[in-house]
Amino acid sequence: MTAATDPFPRRRTLRSGRELAAAGLADADQAALIDRAGEIFPVAVTAHLADSMSEAVARQFVPQEEELMRGGAERDDPIGDAAHSPLRGIVHRYPDRLLLTPLLVCPAYCRFCFRRAHVGGADAILSEAEMEAAFAYIESHPAIWEVILSGGDPLMLPAKRLEAIVARLSAIAHVAVIRIHTRVPILDPARVTPALTAALATDKAMFAVIHCNHADELSEPVKAALRQFLRAGIPLLSQTVLLKGVNDDAETMAALMRALVANRIKPYYLHHPDLAAGTAHFRPPLERGHDIVREMRGRISGLCQPTYVLDIPGGYGKVPAGPSYLEANAEGGFRVTDWQGGVHAYPPQGGEAADIAAKAAT
Ligand code: SF4
Repeated sequence: MTAATDPFPRRRTLRSGRELAAAGLADADQAALIDRAGEIFPVAVTAHLADSMSEAVARQFVPQEEELMRGGAERDDPIGDAAHSPLRGIVHRYPDRLLLTPLLVCPAYCRFCFRRAHVGGADAILSEAEMEAAFAYIESHPAIWEVILSGGDPLMLPAKRLEAIVARLSAIAHVAVIRIHTRVPILDPARVTPALTAALATDKAMFAVIHCNHADELSEPVKAALRQFLRAGIPLLSQTVLLKGVNDDAETMAALMRALVANRIKPYYLHHPDLAAGTAHFRPPLERGHDIVREMRGRISGLCQPTYVLDIPGGYGKVPAGPSYLEANAEGGFRVTDWQGGVHAYPPQGGEAADIAAKAAT
């Protein structure tokens, strides 16, 4: 893969081991390793990230040596996008919705990225003709109720380009919902401008899903950027990736979920990390995710609970991956475990059947 460049640059982004070391984000003796990792998947750290780097944030963006190792079960297309891509820029996995990826460029590159084999390459932007073919595909499939703009990051597009895409999708009668998946407000909040949020104006239902992995990412400039979406009437949801060494303990995860809700962002998904090549050092066991979900249940508001999900390798889709609180019992009912670990029968046993109407009449 050739080194990525930002096709619409605004601010200075660090892209080499030497630059990261000079900024104090890596040791000088890590520079060569970072450059080797960058040959496989581009390195990019925005000026905003460099200014607000904590340990949890650095781990997500500064390559580690483990990244150069591919695990046996890891793959270039971990969630099987290719099997559901009828044409470039479209992933149509489920009947009523599809993914439209106008570009595969991001402001910074997360080292655990599940599309790391494709994101940030030289051929990362759809041509006009490819976009037209994608729109024609959506128009010719009346079952498509929701279009998810993803990438890369669709908010890397200039406002005018984005406005044209939103207008084109809005004009398709059977498309009721447009959902944008973005990390731009977190990675480079200065990109969020009134012109950008105005470009998202539509009579259709528009949602933005913000990828955020640690409360440290919600700095003041980020919060100000997020408020611009809310002022523009765009509801915010979040998605988080469970990452070893970043957020894989209940306290850190709960703090993130609360911070999201306090900033009017409803936690939507907590993803188990996909089997992308060179990402094993980020992947905790599923049991760790179960522990975290169990520990959060009941202890923090229901508003703060995301759905823990796993994408089945091979393209078979997403499934809830959280622990089960119900288990069938021998009486044809269930054993239910409450948030404190107490076990109960459902329905409760021992009640006498009675005629409610006869009782009411006496
Ligand atoms: S923002 Fe998303 S698509 Fe871009 S590098 Fe990070 S995980 Fe990958």
